[in-house]
Amino acid sequence: HAVSVVSLLEKASGRWPDSPSVTDEGQTFTWEQTEKRCQCLAWALASLGVGVGHRVAYLGFNSHWCFELFFASPMAGAITVPVNFRLSVDEMVDCIQDAEPTVLLADRDHIEQARAISRECPWLKAVVYAGEGNAPNGFLSYEDLLTSSEKTDLQPSGNDDTLILFYTGGTTGRSKGVMLTHINLFTNALGGLSLYETVERETHLLAGPMFHTAAGSRVYTATMMGTHTVILSKFDVLEMMGLVEQYRINTMQLVPTTLQLMVDHPQFAEFDLSSLRMITYGAAPMPVALLERALKRLPGVSFAQSYGMTEASPVVTVLNGDDHSLEATRLPRLESVGRPVFHNHVRIVNAERQTLGVGEVGEIAVKGANIMKGYWRAPELTAAVLQDGWYYTGDSGYLDEDGYLFLVGRIKDMIVSGGENVYPIEIENVLSRHPDVRECAVIGVPHEKWGESVHAVVRLTDDVVVSEDDIISYCRERIAHYKCPTGVTFMEQPLPVSAVNKILKSELRTMISGDAE
Ligand code: ATP
Ligand code: MG
Repeated sequence: HAVSVVSLLEKASGRWPDSPSVTDEGQTFTWEQTEKRCQCLAWALASLGVGVGHRVAYLGFNSHWCFELFFASPMAGAITVPVNFRLSVDEMVDCIQDAEPTVLLADRDHIEQARAISRECPWLKAVVYAGEGNAPNGFLSYEDLLTSSEKTDLQPSGNDDTLILFYTGGTTGRSKGVMLTHINLFTNALGGLSLYETVERETHLLAGPMFHTAAGSRVYTATMMGTHTVILSKFDVLEMMGLVEQYRINTMQLVPTTLQLMVDHPQFAEFDLSSLRMITYGAAPMPVALLERALKRLPGVSFAQSYGMTEASPVVTVLNGDDHSLEATRLPRLESVGRPVFHNHVRIVNAERQTLGVGEVGEIAVKGANIMKGYWRAPELTAAVLQDGWYYTGDSGYLDEDGYLFLVGRIKDMIVSGGENVYPIEIENVLSRHPDVRECAVIGVPHEKWGESVHAVVRLTDDVVVSEDDIISYCRERIAHYKCPTGVTFMEQPLPVSAVNKILKSELRTMISGDAE
């Protein structure tokens, strides 16, 4: 195959055999070791009945086992399905029934869930324990499979074959399986080189969950550059800062919530984070006030923002280091998500999918070799969003004269009040600058006269007294009246978030207006 992540791994192992590939809970592998382990796993999968086009699912926290499966599956011609470990057991069963894998791998923290899944999914040929020590009853041992596997002829996948099924974030409804091919993920990895301004053999902290494209696709970028990946099994801010110090981490990828947990942590100053060269962030809107704090507390670190989605493997645009400085936080450009990476074309369209001009708000459409093959077993959903090579994202935004993309939100989250379109992000940006606001989200609630009215959900910092009127008048001093919230709900608890820490506006809407979506 002309394009294959299998050959990426072979090249990494050939070029940097003794350099570290992965560190996981103190155990470090070299590229040569990783390649050998992947090869043995591929033979073992074949001996378990995994054939071309079959799926192999992984249920567990981030681990070197998951990293290895990302290469072993395509070596055996199969498709990896990383399962979201934050799902309930019923949702996991739904996901497994949708993907129908031949084999399921589970780590030590998901034994019970794997048992429940295998009861519901009798077609599974094997359930494999991806962990240290003896396999529990009913499981095969991954490590034993590696040592006992025998060489067989395999038909590796490549080019337009599906490499991974990543499920979408489930922010706007039921999550969908996205078929990403070798070419898709290879292209994204190339784009990643420009995003990270990556040099060979840096050290990267894998902080996000590997079941999501943002962190999952990073495995292939790392392999291209001989990066040493240090794995954080699941997000914990103290452990993360500890690993940055211990392994002299150069790059990591965060989302606004995890960046906030880090820079506002009372023990932040106790860690030596001076090895950090670049932090990339994305996946959800970044409050400018938070970015300013991060820039102040991490001088010398460059920041880059990326915008994308599972369907685009995931990166579409990048706002790179030059546009991030404390001086720049006063410039409108920082409120953009940057420009398309070299392999993407972006255009803005109206409801009839006709191209709009500079400054006009419409749906964001993307074209490029990184765009998915389609949704898994959902041809109608695919046809609704893919047309003539363009993917229609469901996000709205506009382009400025220099080609910078400004997101204005998800079409589903847009509020139409009295015939005016209101974009929640604008109000959220204002609210997040209020000194007593810790978290906020703006949603539309049904209104008899206006269709919808603007409603703010706010979580305050500790021990402050702020009233609904205070919040409303704070907004009125700063933005047009029709955009200002007419009601405020104060929350004691953190706002509800999805498995990848995005605020679930659908839940807030149900909570506040009581109508289920
Ligand atoms: P679902 O499609 O299941 O509703 P989801 O769209 O959240 O879930 P993902 O593919 O994980 O699933 O997320 C992509 C979406 O995240 C984008 O369409 C966009 O709305 C949002 N997003 C991505 N990057 C950014 C960013 N830098 N700033 C703001 N929002 C972003
Ligand atoms: Mg989506």
